[in-house]
Amino acid sequence: MELEKSYDLSILVNDSKRLVLEELGRRIEASAEEGICDCQDCVVDMATLALNSLKPRYHASLLGTFYAQAAAEGDYAEEVHKAVDEAIRKVKANPSHA
Ligand SMILES: [Zn+2]
Repeated sequence: MELEKSYDLSILVNDSKRLVLEELGRRIEASAEEGICDCQDCVVDMATLALNSLKPRYHASLLGTFYAQAAAEGDYAEEVHKAVDEAIRKVKANPSHA
């Protein structure tokens, strides 16, 4: 059964992705932060590393805002912060661009 043909799954929203991209965006803006490279390759690589190290956090957007806000606070926000730190550190040490 192909679920996507039978159900509207576009309501599935990945909070971890949104949160990582927001955090990474802040860090790149706030920077020239000791040499974060903001080229396409490095940014995609940092986002990928951070996202793969986090537990996914999906919600159905019908219930939307409440869960999205909850995810932005507390323990999960701290995990996102650490994941982005670590991703920045790794890519800085070993940049993805040629
Ligand atoms: Zn780069």
